[in-house]
Amino acid sequence: MFGDRPRTSGVRRMSAPAQLRHFIGGDWRPSETERWIPDVNPSDAEDVLASVPAGTSEDVRAAVAAAAGAYPAWRALSGPARSEYLYNWASAIGERREELAQLLVREVGKPVGEARGEVARCVTILRYYAGDAVRPIGDLIPAQAAGALQYSIHQPLGVVALITPWNFPVAIPLWKAAPALAFGNTVVLKPAEASSRCALALAETAAAAGLPRGVFNVLLGAGGDVGMPLVEAPDVRAVSFTGSGAVGALVAAAAAKRNIRYQTEMGGKNVAIVLPDADLGLAAGLTAAGAMRYAGQKCTATSRVVVAREVEAPFLAELRARVAALPLGPVTDPAAAIGPVISKHSQDAIRRVLGEMDAECIYTGEVPASNEFARGYFVSPTIVRGAAADSALAQRELFGPVLASFTAGDLDEAIAIANATPYGLSASLFTRDLASALRYVDRIEAGMVRVNGDTTGVDPHAPFGGMKSSSSGTREQGPAAQQFYTEIKTVQINP
Ligand code: NAD
Repeated sequence: MFGDRPRTSGVRRMSAPAQLRHFIGGDWRPSETERWIPDVNPSDAEDVLASVPAGTSEDVRAAVAAAAGAYPAWRALSGPARSEYLYNWASAIGERREELAQLLVREVGKPVGEARGEVARCVTILRYYAGDAVRPIGDLIPAQAAGALQYSIHQPLGVVALITPWNFPVAIPLWKAAPALAFGNTVVLKPAEASSRCALALAETAAAAGLPRGVFNVLLGAGGDVGMPLVEAPDVRAVSFTGSGAVGALVAAAAAKRNIRYQTEMGGKNVAIVLPDADLGLAAGLTAAGAMRYAGQKCTATSRVVVAREVEAPFLAELRARVAALPLGPVTDPAAAIGPVISKHSQDAIRRVLGEMDAECIYTGEVPASNEFARGYFVSPTIVRGAAADSALAQRELFGPVLASFTAGDLDEAIAIANATPYGLSASLFTRDLASALRYVDRIEAGMVRVNGDTTGVDPHAPFGGMKSSSSGTREQGPAAQQFYTEIKTVQINP
């Protein structure tokens, strides 16, 4: 079991939330921390799922020691043997598919349809990397010396630290852990505090699949208390981080100082461009969904739209109608498409930006005054127009259901507006014109680019990552993962 009722003395309600335990070396290990963080259902703040330990340096030491201890035997296994474990893990998740989806709904406020999609993606990810574990791990290279055998092999790095956000609480941990394990590394996962239960559910499925002890560890806790000490732990040879730009910069600096490999995948200010020849119904529907579903809390959510002047009025009218048709509600309601934001802190921060903005509000949805809504962290879906180019609405990632609309005279102006932020994660263009599409694909500064599709998501086997401040320049998923989780050894054998 991953949770204990509180062990501390004093008066507590019978329903006091369970104190979560780390998953270290295959055991559920309690923390000696003094500080506990409530894990709250964002649709209903009175529903506290658990207490998360802030964590201690001893917890970090134990997790890294377990991963380091398991490394030699895991590394020594053949690729096909590791592959078998990953297939079994996929099956163990598949067996608990619906239960896991419901946990995502409750812990991070993800609408149930999207939660089911995320769990299904986990199964796909594990199967993909189970396949990768049996594909070639090097090249045969002609040698200058006659008769010599020269080749390269990809070898594992050792213990890798994975630091993850709450918004894709099972898919992101797995799209890091699966390739790390497939190529022979062992893992310490440090999930976001707000998605601790989801991370422990992954640990349960790993244990059910029979993964050897210590190969996959979950270290719970606060970023400052355990995240940074994990990056600084001597046995950690690489860190893969996904989260905000501010924390990513700290992680990158600490990893660079130790000369260990790192990747930091961070935020976005993702943009859709709508040209005069676009299918306006398609563009409005996908922009509304990209901006508002899951309350705009995907890293690839559409937070800006740049519209050609000729079609601005009809497009915005259609967009307002499409946003109004997306149900806002506690995600326990299966019809809800938008849901709450993750926390009171996030709700307050978004409302503050909206309260101080100097732009025209062209749509604001209503959050009903009923008790049901008062207990959750809801923000009105909002569309604004005419925000200044240097304003928070144009530049900052708000991570909420807020879309800023801008006007452009032609494609080049639209691309210039689109590129005028520090971010470069994802972008989309709506047009029927091939030449415009090709020019945009060439000029847009984003790691993931679509034509006539929304900005969110990417196939689980295609490279994922951003340009500029959205990423440290590496990519995740697909073949890109092998580059990150292995290092190349060049071998020459002379007769
Ligand atoms: P966050 O940066 O607050 O936290 C991310 C992780 O870092 C958490 O596990 C947190 O505990 C940890 N952390 C916090 N402080 C730390 C420190 N000092 N040292 C080490 N670790 C620390 O981000 P979040 O709120 O959990 O997630 C939202 C952010 O993630 C958004 O900016 C979003 O765009 C981004 N994101 C990016 C991608 C992508 O692939 N580019 C995907 C999903 C989310």
